Amino acid sequence: MSLIVQKFGGTSVATSEKIKNVANAIIKEKNNGNDVVVVVSAMGHTTDNLIKLSKEITSSPCAREMDMLLATGEQVSMSLLAMALIDMGYNAVSLTGYQAGIKTQKNHMCARIIDIDTTRINKHILNNEIVIVAGFQGICEGNEITTLGRGGSDTTAVALACALNAQRCDIYSDVEGVYTTDPRIVKTAQKLKTISYDEMLELARVGANVLHPRCVESAKQNKMPMRVRSSFKLDDMGTLIIGVDEMELNKPVTGAAVDNSQIRIVICDIVDEPGNAAKLFNLLSSSDLSVDMIIQSYARHSKNTNDIAFTISKSDYPKFDALKGKITELLKADGIFIDDDIAKVSIVGAGMIDRPGIAAKMFDTLAKENINIKMISTSEIKISCLVEKKYCNSALVALCKAFELDGADVAQVKGDLPDVD
Ligand code: ASP
Ligand code: MG
Repeated sequence: MSLIVQKFGGTSVATSEKIKNVANAIIKEKNNGNDVVVVVSAMGHTTDNLIKLSKEITSSPCAREMDMLLATGEQVSMSLLAMALIDMGYNAVSLTGYQAGIKTQKNHMCARIIDIDTTRINKHILNNEIVIVAGFQGICEGNEITTLGRGGSDTTAVALACALNAQRCDIYSDVEGVYTTDPRIVKTAQKLKTISYDEMLELARVGANVLHPRCVESAKQNKMPMRVRSSFKLDDMGTLIIGVDEMELNKPVTGAAVDNSQIRIVICDIVDEPGNAAKLFNLLSSSDLSVDMIIQSYARHSKNTNDIAFTISKSDYPKFDALKGKITELLKADGIFIDDDIAKVSIVGAGMIDRPGIAAKMFDTLAKENINIKMISTSEIKISCLVEKKYCNSALVALCKAFELDGADVAQVKGDLPDVD
């Protein structure tokens, strides 16, 4: 008998009706002859509401108490779901992170899972019980409750699937799968049949808000197949996330995304000598500022200075603002230029490795739309361009057309995959 881990997000368990619907999805999997371990998020906006409540009490809540508070959200949904299953005639038991043996590091509110003792879960499975585990939480040294960071239930699900040697980890939400691009902007965006872990990670980083990147990272390390599927369309198998070696890469580009949440900063006329970039980025990292694209301009001999441009998240701007004086002083820079009229458009595809001309085609496509590129960055399987914000949607539409992301039949699967129910 094989084991499937199913994870249901907040929208899937938002009301008692929806919890009963989730119970049906679990029973369907159970009736297929599989053992099932379920991970749940908190109902609807519960976590947001709990955070709001804490802010009404204090502007700087203690992290330990925040974890005590936030961990309650998942306990509500897990117990209601177990009750629904028991009411439908099935054996079910709900477990907190602690009871499920999920051990984490000590850092409250962003703890990482370090180990899962599966003894208790396995005992319940042997007893033919459906095990419902509270997502997003664990226990650290000293028996303190921890949480894994926002969206962390996805990570709980993948970690459990790996520890239990599951056949697959299914992530259910209100979206039907992973799309080639944002269907709100490109109406003809296509649902992908498959996507590789690396592509999913890149897409998650460039703004596609489907999965918690950490869970994809650990699925990749453990070669755990994942499905992103809808809890409202149970017959639809959604999108399968697998290793790139299991995919037929017949298209160079798999997906495209746009991110409006960054600003560009240019530090002008930094003297071209060893150590200046290190000084700048050490300073930024000491304030916990993470930087995305970085470009250093060519130093002309006449001036012997460089400009260094980079992007950061808009929400981090106050941290940067506090460092401005120090940066100018430390680097003897001539000025700092801030540009918030930017959007980052990216194309992602494992098939672009060893295929020349993809970057040229991207730039050509933007040129034909008369869109100026302000900054470019690349990885092995991604190309990102910064453009003026007003062009972000038209850039995305044009790129989807150019790279055939708005047509049917986007990806093919090679051979047999462990996905057929
Ligand atoms: N309930 C938590 C959150 O809203 C964890 C999750 O949903 O994955 O962030
Ligand atoms: Mg979530």
